[in-house]
Amino acid sequence: MELADLPVPSAPGPGQVTVKVAASGVNFIDIYHRTGLYKSDWPANLGMEGAGVVEAVGEGVSNFSPGDRVAYAMARGSYAEYQSVAASYLVHVPDAVDLEVAAAAMLQGMTAHYLTHSTFPLRANQVALVHAVAGGTGLLIVQMAKLLGATVIGTTSSDEKAAKARQAGADYVINYTDFETEVKRITAGKGVDVVYDSVGANTFEKSLNVLHPRGTLVSFGQSSGAVKAIEPLLLAQKGSLYLTRPNLAHYIADRAEVEWRAGDILSWIAGQKLHIEIAASYPLAKAAQAHRDLESRRTSGKLILIP
Ligand code: NDP
Repeated sequence: MELADLPVPSAPGPGQVTVKVAASGVNFIDIYHRTGLYKSDWPANLGMEGAGVVEAVGEGVSNFSPGDRVAYAMARGSYAEYQSVAASYLVHVPDAVDLEVAAAAMLQGMTAHYLTHSTFPLRANQVALVHAVAGGTGLLIVQMAKLLGATVIGTTSSDEKAAKARQAGADYVINYTDFETEVKRITAGKGVDVVYDSVGANTFEKSLNVLHPRGTLVSFGQSSGAVKAIEPLLLAQKGSLYLTRPNLAHYIADRAEVEWRAGDILSWIAGQKLHIEIAASYPLAKAAQAHRDLESRRTSGKLILIP
């Protein structure tokens, strides 16, 4: 990655809004764009979420005006001082929510929201296993699962991260090494209703073993590497299990869903029901360091860049 000076975007096109970026969130997907796991045409900018102040609006945009505080996710190019964003991605940020917090909350927040409210809508008294529970998305899944009344078992790699996960509300925090045995012990042999798995390669197989019959494995990430192909018959053998591999883009494809998910998140933050753990804030010029820190597993919570 290189820091480059580019012209400020000219007047926004139809349906577009130019945002003066106050903060940009760093996500694992940015690493996938950089390494080429997800293809890009180079040179290109990175960054899939941000928050800032509207500078100018294009033709046909009626719900945003210059000066509005806004946030967005899944619009590429937020590692910048200015970004042109389609208005359909934007939401208003309430005065009670800091723009840095809003930038940190959007992508992982809407992810945790769709996982716990739509992919596998958690109910009170259900039990969820959350891998990488102290990660950016993990800490948000825990808090939402607790708001819904579920029990959470989480995996993480260090005592320090385990303490953060407990603080966020996780009922049991365990190490990955023996998680199959531990989950069986905690659930008295019954297994869990759902596994939210962002770790991928290293956890996938054992995750199928800790579900009770007709349980659901939500494989939504691959921070340890891609999951290998499996035979569908395996799902029958392990207890008529459900397996899904969801993507945020398909859960915010319509405007009503963006407003629902972002609206819940920002109002929970304003009402102090949801805490966003900003682990570190870097100047934009240190974006490469932020990637190194996220990749090397040193972080717990959210990393942001300040242009
Ligand atoms: P995290 O903050 O969770 O960081 C990754 C964490 O994964 C690490 O802190 C580490 O926690 C854990 N981990 C386990 N094994 C490894 C490994 N070999 N290398 C690095 N980390 C490892 O990141 P995000 O919350 O941003 O993203 C997590 C995953 O979720 C990514 O794969 C991302 O692409 C995916 N994702 C998917 C979305 C979707 O819609 N499908 C949307 C958003 C994110 P520990 O040390 O505790 O193990």
